[in-house]
Amino acid sequence: MERRTALVIGSGFGGLATALRLQSMGFDTTVLEKLDGPGGRAYVRRVDGFTFDMGPTVLTVPHFIEELFALEPGKAGLSGPDFPPDILRAERITSGVSGGPATSRYVDVVPVLPFYRIYFDDGTYFDYDGDPQHTVEQIRAIEPADVEGYHRFHDAARAIFERGFLELGYTHFSSVQSMLKVVPDLLRLDAVRPLFSFTKRYFKSDKLRAVFSFEPLLVGGNPLAVPAIYAMIHFVEKTWGVHYAKGGTGALVQGLVRKLQDLGGRIRYGAEVTSIDVVDAAGARATGRRGRRIARGVTLAGGERLEADVIVSNADYAHTYGALVDPRVRLVHHDARIALAKQSMSVVVIYFGFRDDGAPLDLQHHNIILGPRYEGLLTDIFDRKILAKDFSQYLHVPTLTDPSLAPPGHHAAYTLIPVPHNGSGIDWSSRGEPFVDDVLRFLEARGYIPNLAARLVHKSFITPDYFEHTLNSHLGNAFGLEPVLWQSAFFRPHNKSEDLENLYCVGAGFQPGGGTPSVMMSAKITAREIARDYKVARHVVEAVGGGRPA
Ligand SMILES: Cc1cc2nc3c(=O)[nH]c(=O)nc-3n(C[C@H](O)[C@H](O)[C@H](O)COP(=O)(O)OP(=O)(O)OC[C@H]3O[C@@H](n4cnc5c(N)ncnc54)[C@H](O)[C@@H]3O)c2cc1C
Repeated sequence: MERRTALVIGSGFGGLATALRLQSMGFDTTVLEKLDGPGGRAYVRRVDGFTFDMGPTVLTVPHFIEELFALEPGKAGLSGPDFPPDILRAERITSGVSGGPATSRYVDVVPVLPFYRIYFDDGTYFDYDGDPQHTVEQIRAIEPADVEGYHRFHDAARAIFERGFLELGYTHFSSVQSMLKVVPDLLRLDAVRPLFSFTKRYFKSDKLRAVFSFEPLLVGGNPLAVPAIYAMIHFVEKTWGVHYAKGGTGALVQGLVRKLQDLGGRIRYGAEVTSIDVVDAAGARATGRRGRRIARGVTLAGGERLEADVIVSNADYAHTYGALVDPRVRLVHHDARIALAKQSMSVVVIYFGFRDDGAPLDLQHHNIILGPRYEGLLTDIFDRKILAKDFSQYLHVPTLTDPSLAPPGHHAAYTLIPVPHNGSGIDWSSRGEPFVDDVLRFLEARGYIPNLAARLVHKSFITPDYFEHTLNSHLGNAFGLEPVLWQSAFFRPHNKSEDLENLYCVGAGFQPGGGTPSVMMSAKITAREIARDYKVARHVVEAVGGGRPA
């Protein structure tokens, strides 16, 4: 029997994870990537001797990574418990190597402590490290009355984590019924209330309300609008820690690419897909919405055509349906959704290298630097879509953990500032540079990086235009569709196309959502749909490769 084939459009974490799973299921799989290297948002910028991870830096849930490296031909590990009991019993990993045995063959993953340092505008800070006693001590120092509230918040967040993540995380909400079944639980857990309002029920202090609600920003969510189900992020981190891949996130991406090649899969760079080619039941090019419409292949820029049994798009939702599929054959509901959907915020990211002057930096690997306003700033970014004078930022200094990312005697850093997506009309070609200079001046003036201007040896940056024009993300969104309630679960684009046979989707724009753990879950959900549709043998679906805890 001829081997089945699969094409995956895009090499983000979701695309690579799906390709690995398809390859282990026996599909001869090729990843087609528009850029000249892998990773998508996790692409690596190498310049002047510095290595900058361009996107994700906070790695959580290391056993999701371990699952991928443990895949073997004929061992797809798709059924059985997603969270085996010993993974749940595992102590939080805070020292040594935190990647599992299969991961360690490709990349070293180590824990980072504290998870984050959160600076308030008055210069004080909160170190979040998941240690219950340390957390309580810091809460008491800020607002003694909030200690009792924290214990209640912790219990509520744990209940949401257990139901929303452990039990429902891998659910593909493909029908209204599948969604309706879980609504009573979500209401009981108060998980549909906006996260910030949820947090206000437990904390009096504005500082602590920010500390326990900012995390969805890391996956594009507005704490004022995301459902409180996102309180689970707090618990995911507390349970399994925050981790770093030595050499940067790019080393993890390269490891996944090597793993794919070791399994026999391929990746092609500079391979931009310009259309997903759809045929009718007779194999002729489909030109209407009636009858069967079957995704049979893709056309690349330059005209090359490739065929496959399965097509998976890891590209942005609006790009997949709005640009790659002929409008005459796609369901009209995609056009309506593309027009009406709320895209997530975007970001400006400044990559910079500076000389180490010998004085220790009073910073951590991950620093959240909050501006003077919290709710007001979020409203400016997400609703008013204006570029405010004040800003909050996430400052990443990986050379504090791994000096190999910079030439000797230097630090490599990036700082990420949430900004409105390109629906704002902001002209980044003129406003980008002055904005970036303001941010760097702020870091120096507030003493985060003393004498930065004099020590700066490299500066480059990206704006929402990079996401729109380089990564093909609608309106320059940085995280897919905004994770509001009405764009979650069933209401988020489905991983199996409703209108085109053989077309599947994966990644931040699809279920369950953005962030590297979620897109790895997205890949497993998508692979399960494909395994079911293609009747992949049960022993292949169930068998687990070495390295994953039993
Ligand atoms: C600056 C930043 C920081 C972040 N930090 C974190 C973090 O610390 N922790 C975390 O968990 N998450 C973080 N995230 C979110 C996380 O990076 C993303 O949710 C995740 O990486 C998205 O993966 P994806 O599979 O959806 O694919 P993407 O990374 O979006 O990749 C899609 C790929 O498709 C390719 N493509 C698009 N169109 C075509 C086409 N027509 N033909 C061929 N290829 C095409 C693109 O070039 C791209 O490579 C961050 C995101 C950003 C932007």
